Order: sequence, then structure tokens, then C-alpha cells
Amino acid sequence: MQKLEKRIFASDVNESNDGLAGYLLGWVHEVRDLGALVFLILRDITGTCQLSLRRNELSKESLSELEKISKESVIMVDGVVRAEPKSRLGAEVKVMSIKVLSKSVEPLPYDVVGKVKASMNTRLEYRILDLRRPEHRAIFLIGDTVLNACREYLRSLGFVEVRTPRIIATATEGGASLFEVKYFDKIAYLAQSPQLYKEELVTIFERVFEIGPFFRAEESHTRRHISEFTSIDIEAAFSNYEDVMDILEGLIVHVIMKVLFERKRELELLNVNLKVPRRPFLRITYDEALRELESIGIKKKWGEDFTTEELRQLGRKHLGFYFITHFPTDSKPFYIKPCESNELLSESFDLMYQWLELSSGGTRISDRALLERRIREKGLNPSAFNYHLKVYDYGMPQHAGWGLGFERLLMVLTRKTNIRETILFPRDKFRLMP
Ligand code: ATP
Ligand code: MG
Repeated sequence: MQKLEKRIFASDVNESNDGLAGYLLGWVHEVRDLGALVFLILRDITGTCQLSLRRNELSKESLSELEKISKESVIMVDGVVRAEPKSRLGAEVKVMSIKVLSKSVEPLPYDVVGKVKASMNTRLEYRILDLRRPEHRAIFLIGDTVLNACREYLRSLGFVEVRTPRIIATATEGGASLFEVKYFDKIAYLAQSPQLYKEELVTIFERVFEIGPFFRAEESHTRRHISEFTSIDIEAAFSNYEDVMDILEGLIVHVIMKVLFERKRELELLNVNLKVPRRPFLRITYDEALRELESIGIKKKWGEDFTTEELRQLGRKHLGFYFITHFPTDSKPFYIKPCESNELLSESFDLMYQWLELSSGGTRISDRALLERRIREKGLNPSAFNYHLKVYDYGMPQHAGWGLGFERLLMVLTRKTNIRETILFPRDKFRLMP
């Protein structure tokens, strides 16, 4: 088959392109065989379109290719776009010739068109077919825009993208939920966050960010935890928690505006009505959150982190993005700075969307003696942090930062309630494949 000059994409198949001739490449999404007439739905990166083939107008070669057609086969067709009021998009492609480039098996183990509802487990088992569904692929096209928008925004504020080690010798925040790896004749660990490295790097670049995978051996099987997730992290010198909360707010707004601009079609596919949130986001303190819970009959001991049920209750009251600030110092990691006016409280915050925690951050301790004390108070051994502590002797400015879970942000933007939907190949306690 001769390749014509121009590739036509599914999104080109509309009335205004009536008469456009070229070739199309893609996957067979659906087949409707009426005998003399065959309709195929072709899927490519831009969406789906209808192809119509008249058996009596096809060559012998094309007819024998047509016999091989099965759902998800990769095909190439030559054809002409024709306005067709009866077809869904007001146009279709009249096919002149067809070739099967890669034939798929029949029957497929998973229905890509989605007429048969599949359980999450089945979906993940056949993830590569599941991702072919346009509304599932859309999540990751939005994700692509999110990552670009984050980089664009942070760079515009002078942040430098860095890459810190994934293989580390000691735990950042204590040993729980660390994965061990055999490292030659030693035991090493997979990093849970870039925390200590990003803090050290503010002494070099002042403002750093990192986007990358981190690992947590989460024992609890929830809809918001996976063992390998992507974190968007920043750390900024000469800044406190309020400065970086402003940056986080600005980033969320920029990301949403970009998604609205670049991914209109994907949002429609997902049936998501996304709105740009108004700044500043609501800010409530930990103590205020406690009082809110008390007013609905939930008495909570001061000092503890919120349980999932408590977060759900708070989420019922706060419908969009909001911050919870000033957590008890002891509920936060050792590097978080206690408030000067009251050491029991810390210069910390979580960014929430309804019940879901998206980000944690705060001002960091920049004084070595205090940091050592906090490490000890957390039951950790300062000597395990020797390399890190030395950095504080070499000139350490006040600094602050946060870590934002990429897959959780994507859950919010695509209105998904299980984090396994917003990562291509999820890893959890029970799933290591595919
Ligand atoms: P949670 O309380 O929800 O378990 P965390 O407070 O332990 O989260 P942080 O250490 O504050 O998590 O990490 C910063 C951000 O990274 C979190 O707000 C979240 O968005 C994301 N994150 C942390 N752990 C996971 C995980 N296991 N799976 C997905 N995202 C995660
Ligand atoms: Mg947190």
C-alpha cells in the first residue's frame, strides 16, 4: 500500500475537513460489520473517529486484510474525510484501502470499549489494555500537563531542579516503612523523601525542587497510599512556612489553569468540571480543626494526628483546598521548627482537599543544637545523621519547604477516589506486577 503524504488524525475528522485525503494510523476500537458496509472506530492519540468501508469498492488485498480485523489490531488506512451528518462527529473517513500492521488476539481478555464493567483488580491485571480506554488515558494526559506546569511555575520563581539519591544508608524519619535493599555486602534503603538532601542543597542553590519517585512500605491498604509514589518537593532558603504556603497555592492555581487550557477534551471525557480555586485558600489551625470536630461530637486527645474518619468529617465541612497549620511539634518529623512562642506547636502545615492530604510542609530547624535535640527526642541517634548535621556548621540559612504527592493531586484534578487509578502501574503490599 502506498503511503499518502499526510497523516490524518482522528481529531481531524470533522465537517470542516471535508475532502481531506491522507492516511490514518491507529488501533481498532470497535467493529460493526453490516455485510456490504463495515464501520470501524479507529483510535489514535487524539481520540476516536469512524471509518466506513464498502466491500464492493475495496481491492482484493484490502478485502483479505479486512477479514483479519479484530479489536485492538493496529491498522493503516488510506481515505478521504467526508462530512456525514448521520455519524456521531458529523464526519467520517471513506476508506480506499486498509492494511493490518499488527493483529491482536481474539477474544481480548479485557473490554477496552468498557461496555463490560471491570473490577479494579481486573483493570490492574490487564493494565495496558485498561489504559487504552480514552477516559483512563485522559488521566495521564492531564498528569503530563501537571508535571510540565509544576516545572514551569517553579522555574519562574527561581527554583532549580535537582536529583537526590534514591539509595540511602539511613532513614530520614525513623525506620518504619523503609524498604531494604541489598547493596553489595551492606543493607541500604530506598529513599522515602528527598528531605535532608533538599535542605542541604539550599546552601548551594537557595531554591531547589525535585520531582521523582519515593518509596514507602505502607502496611495499611488504603485508597490513598501506594508503595512507590511521585513527590513534587521544594525547599527555599530565607523563607518560612507562610512563604512556601503561598508558593504552594500559586502552584495549584497555575496547574489548574494550565489543565483547563490544555486538557479540555480530557476533562470532558472524565466528566470533570474543574474550577480555578480562589486565593488565599482557607487556613485553619490544628486547634481550630479540633474544635470543629468537637462541635460535631468527636472528642480528640490533643497532640495526635487525625484519623481517616476525622479527616472525612473535616472534609465534609471544607469542600475545596484548605490548609491545616500549627500541628503539635511531636506529631511532625524532627526537622520541623517549633514555634518560638510555644514549643508545643510547630510552624507546619498540611494542604488538604476535602479529606485528602495533598502536601505537608513547614519551616525547618536551621540551628544544629536544636536539630540534634529534636532527633534525640524522636528516639533517633544523632550519630546516624553526622553528614547532615555537619552541614549546619557550614552556614545554614533559615529555610522552608513542602512535599506534594503527584498522584494525590491527580486524584483531585480527575475526581478519582482510588490512587491506583492515577498511577500507571501501582505498587502496593499486594501488587508488584504488572
Ligand atoms: P499520610 O498521612 O497520608 O500517610 P504522610 O503525612 O505520611 O501522608 P508526608 O510524609 O507528609 O506523607 O509526604 C508528603 C506527601 O506525599 C503527602 O502529603 C502525600 O501527598 C504524598 N504521599 C506520602 N506517602 C504517600 C503514599 N504512600 N502514597 C501516595 N502518596 C504519598
Ligand atoms: Mg504529611
